[in-house]
Amino acid sequence: MCLILRGTVEIFATKNSLSILRWFETYIDLLYHISSTATAVALKEPMVSTMKRLTLLWGALLFMVTMLMLYMMLDTMAMSPRQGKMDTEVMNMLESKLSKVEKDMNNNRLIVQQIKAEMGSLLNPAGDAQQVQPPVVAGADDVKKPGEIVQMNQAVVEKPMPKPRVEEAYSVAAHSKGPETSADVCKWVSEAKSTADINIHNLFSSLAFDNPNGGAWTQGWKVSYPKDRWTADKKLKIILVPHTHCDPGWIKTYEVYYRTETKHILDSFVPKLEENSKYKFMFTEMSYFSWWWSEIDDSLRERVKKLIRNGQFEISTGGWVMTDEANAHYYAMLDQLIEGHQWLNSTLGYVPKSGWSIDPFGYSSTMAYLLKRSNFNSMLIQRVHYSIKKHLAKNTELEFMWRQHWDPKGSTDMYTHMMPFYSYDVPHTCGPEPAICCQFDFRRLPSSPYRCPWHIDPKAITSLNVAERARTILDQWKKKATLYKTNVVLVPLGDDFRYQGREEFDLQFENYEKIFRYLDENPELGAQGKFGTLSDYFAAVYEETKTKPGRTPTDFPSLSGDFFSYADRDDHYWSGYYTSRPLQKNLDRVLEHNLRSAEIILSLSQARAWREKLANFPSRLMARKMEGSRRALALFQHHDGITGTAKDHVVEDYGKRMLDGLHEAKRIVAECSAFLLHEDKKMYNYLESDGPEYGHDETRQSHNSLPEKPVLRVKDMLVSSGGAPVILYNSLAQPRVEVVSVHTDWPYVKVTGPDGVSLHSQVEPLWPVEKGPDGGLILGVYSVKFVANLTGLAVTKYLVHKMESGQDNLNHISQVTLLNKNSPAVDEKSPVFQIETKSEDADFTLETKFLKATFSGITGRLKSVTSLSDGVTHKSELEFIQYGTRAHKDKSGAYLFLPDGEARPLVTDRPSLIRIVKGPLGSEVTIFTAYIQHTVRLHNSPGTDGSSLDISNIVDIRGSRNLEVGMRLHTDVKNSDQTFYSDLNGFQMQRRKYYSKLTLQGNVYPMPTMAYLQDESSRVSVLSSQSSGVANLVKGAIDVMFDRRLNQDDNRGLGQGVLDNRPTPSRYRLLFETRHTKVQETAPEASFPSLLGQQSSLALIHPMFVMPHAGRKSGAQGQKSNLMNQVLLMKSPLPCEMHLLNLRLLLHSSVTAELDHIPRESSLLLVRHLPSDCSFPAASLTCTTGNGQVNPADIFADVELRRSTITSLTMTSDLAELKLGTAVQVPPMEILAVKVELS
Ligand SMILES: [Zn+2]
Repeated sequence: MCLILRGTVEIFATKNSLSILRWFETYIDLLYHISSTATAVALKEPMVSTMKRLTLLWGALLFMVTMLMLYMMLDTMAMSPRQGKMDTEVMNMLESKLSKVEKDMNNNRLIVQQIKAEMGSLLNPAGDAQQVQPPVVAGADDVKKPGEIVQMNQAVVEKPMPKPRVEEAYSVAAHSKGPETSADVCKWVSEAKSTADINIHNLFSSLAFDNPNGGAWTQGWKVSYPKDRWTADKKLKIILVPHTHCDPGWIKTYEVYYRTETKHILDSFVPKLEENSKYKFMFTEMSYFSWWWSEIDDSLRERVKKLIRNGQFEISTGGWVMTDEANAHYYAMLDQLIEGHQWLNSTLGYVPKSGWSIDPFGYSSTMAYLLKRSNFNSMLIQRVHYSIKKHLAKNTELEFMWRQHWDPKGSTDMYTHMMPFYSYDVPHTCGPEPAICCQFDFRRLPSSPYRCPWHIDPKAITSLNVAERARTILDQWKKKATLYKTNVVLVPLGDDFRYQGREEFDLQFENYEKIFRYLDENPELGAQGKFGTLSDYFAAVYEETKTKPGRTPTDFPSLSGDFFSYADRDDHYWSGYYTSRPLQKNLDRVLEHNLRSAEIILSLSQARAWREKLANFPSRLMARKMEGSRRALALFQHHDGITGTAKDHVVEDYGKRMLDGLHEAKRIVAECSAFLLHEDKKMYNYLESDGPEYGHDETRQSHNSLPEKPVLRVKDMLVSSGGAPVILYNSLAQPRVEVVSVHTDWPYVKVTGPDGVSLHSQVEPLWPVEKGPDGGLILGVYSVKFVANLTGLAVTKYLVHKMESGQDNLNHISQVTLLNKNSPAVDEKSPVFQIETKSEDADFTLETKFLKATFSGITGRLKSVTSLSDGVTHKSELEFIQYGTRAHKDKSGAYLFLPDGEARPLVTDRPSLIRIVKGPLGSEVTIFTAYIQHTVRLHNSPGTDGSSLDISNIVDIRGSRNLEVGMRLHTDVKNSDQTFYSDLNGFQMQRRKYYSKLTLQGNVYPMPTMAYLQDESSRVSVLSSQSSGVANLVKGAIDVMFDRRLNQDDNRGLGQGVLDNRPTPSRYRLLFETRHTKVQETAPEASFPSLLGQQSSLALIHPMFVMPHAGRKSGAQGQKSNLMNQVLLMKSPLPCEMHLLNLRLLLHSSVTAELDHIPRESSLLLVRHLPSDCSFPAASLTCTTGNGQVNPADIFADVELRRSTITSLTMTSDLAELKLGTAVQVPPMEILAVKVELS
């Protein structure tokens, strides 16, 4: 409507400006009369009925719309070329009238706000009692944008600043009881027990982990089999699977590996397989395959398609990489799988069916879940603790149905094949004796540069030796087959970057063909062999057991649990990599958060662009950025990426790629936020070179530098010139109230929200992080904190106004206290802050309305936390711990953790400085000890951030030698049997227990997002924003590792130590919860975070975007354009238990250049149902709980859902067409995937 009006006015104005001005005058007089009357009525009758108020509201709205029209008319005239000829007298008179009207508009806005508030209370008498109800203050969002008519701005400047009508002190409302999990979900939680035949937790309890020498099969036993087990009538089926394992980065970078190795493999396999239809080959990593595909011509592409169609060439798993399963978050694990599957589906029409994961260092049941729901029937794993392998092998249970531990019915059962031996290389895949198997790796023939470490060379198969050779390897194959239930044996034939040329293919294929032929010619040997793929093997097992794929083969046991921590030999536990390269692990999670947030906002912006047919929205550019960002995250999920186990220059390469991906995602978020806020979206203009109109929330100069916040320029603004805008974006689907921070160049400010209401702000000084305790505070830059209140998926404009000192009594200057310990006195002076220096040793406390924390005056470290709602004081003594590495034999490296004994305190001496910053919105204490700058913050916020303690660290262990550092939190939780819980991939909690028989390093587990200790009455959780190792080595204590610096290699192929440490940020929340109902079972197998724990974790991982205005003018060609105060992307927030995992924009296949990076008019909606422990209260949450239902048509505002189809997780198969408007019941723990067509 505005567009039409504007067009009309333009024609009008150029035709007859002067007469219009006269008409204006009369009209303004009339309007002025109406508005004054409305104001008077509203003021006289504060208690009018709802109906009357509605009428008034409409009146006021009508008035404002009219005013908008007038502004536009005046603006058009001001731009008109005839402007110089205008009657200046008339113009001046008009301005003064407009100025008068504007003042009244401000008054009217106030009244409208009051009416709105009263209407709200009438319509919703229960009200949001727990929300902060900030005082109503004359709005500042009426301030005009830069570039608008100058006279208007002057009128605004002349307006005296209104004095806020509030009490000065900041007070925050008490928590209400909070939402409660539905009875159905509580019932489900109470019944969520695994019914599996094998429980890994019980295996850990019963196995001796004694590692006896098994002879030729060191970790096993002397395998034998009855002579008549296989006969001419009952043959053993040998499926030999040629494969290659291509790490996308490890010793070389992804690109160098591609150019020097992977490309040659992919170039070679096609002609070789075409020679003989019996030849087969398997490949896995789509990051490589898609690259190669982009370089080959159409005829080669057709030949590859033919090989896929006839089953000679298989792509297993089909993920972008073979993902790590310890540190990776399930968002990223799934996203890299979607990226690979979507590429395969759109380019080749191919759908992988079998999972192949031979190299990740331990396995998570989360991956089994993701594959199951991606329509996979079967999967294979390899690196499992040798004692577990041996036990399962003894019981012929290496093939099992992997069941989620929270699934009593077995709907998640996934056929899993576990390889039995030490490695996936040829010496460890034909049978239990590597010295023999190695002789059948024909790449190692004496004529080649490769050798067998057992000093017996392979021999090429000839007619003279074939009988002996065939019988020798058949013996191994048969021994291997005895470890499984069926008469099919899988024999992988490959290794890292194998088959780089025709020659190796020839050696392997031709020699094995001779062996197979000999078996065929001698049926009494009871065996037949063939080349195959992984799916061929599974198909053979299904056929033999007469099982429909996807069902349980007869006699296969079910199993629940995970396979961490992995040991490949002796006490060599691979638990160091949970923490190696923490800076990149941190960057990974930051990228993931930005990517997810960008996906959602881009999908919804794109839908609006389609609906309004806006050609100015840069769809293709945004899609390109999106893809770059996705692939950067996907690549890093590789098991030498996020694990921190690549060479320094490769880590550097990953870091740069992630930083690029992060910039792309941030640009999408910044651009889409600005686009969405444009009242007239046609005025939005994308300029790649200009940078976004709104700055990024934080920047990193390089991939290994600390994040910095941009500074909002306020200082040079005129007082009350209108305020500098800051855009906030909440990418969670639930409402959140929390303290956010923006950096400014001026301390005295007023912050106003989208409704023009003034908010309390707290100004804090900043110190240069890199200088530690010796740096004086930074002059001229300040951290301004305020409580933001955003509903789910809201993009909201806040304004920061320049004030003079003391002008705004909602502007609180924080107080600084320095407790100088044993460093030279820091002579801190500031014109803004009062800085007090003390030298006391007495304990001190920080307190909010919700929590009180006591700290040692000597060390500055946390001692206890009191929850003020129930008065319970929780012991929470925090100490920093350290490990060295063993003096003899093998030492710790990138993979292995081989400590020199129990943890020792990191520092026994006093910190050099304790710095305390206090204010009404929150207080913090920062201590500086050797290697660690550690801050504990309490937010006086009614949101989840007010319910827990916020810990942020900067760890810098450069200069040390063989040092690993972490924190240990001593609590009074009575976990007497040392059971605790840590998460798997942020997807689920896994029960853990300390066992001394595992050695210290065997008791360290991955913690991607969370760990907790609990007893019958309480739970203490450490929520983490990045992955690291976690342990419960001391009763009642949680250890979280920070960083490791290791001076040597640990003999797993990397060939270097870990010495590229940098100052590394990490963030945690400590949550202390008291049960409202006591529980009988304190260590159940399936345990769930509380509602509060879940929302707190999500808020930590997905911080609010705070994007200050970057100074670029809005609108096309610098024209002014109105920015709305708020855009709500949801019709209403999702219930607390429903997590919006993604809304992933789908792109056309890149096969044809015309469609490349053109978005499809659909997105993949992923929603997760998070069940919660019902024994904890959920105070501070403003979301409401539901029953796990979601209606895709009812989620997003202002976009139309035209079609929705429930699909498998990676969209490889459609499961059901969803009738529009139908709600879907999502079972607890499950992820719903719906392809939605939006416009
Ligand atoms: Zn690998």
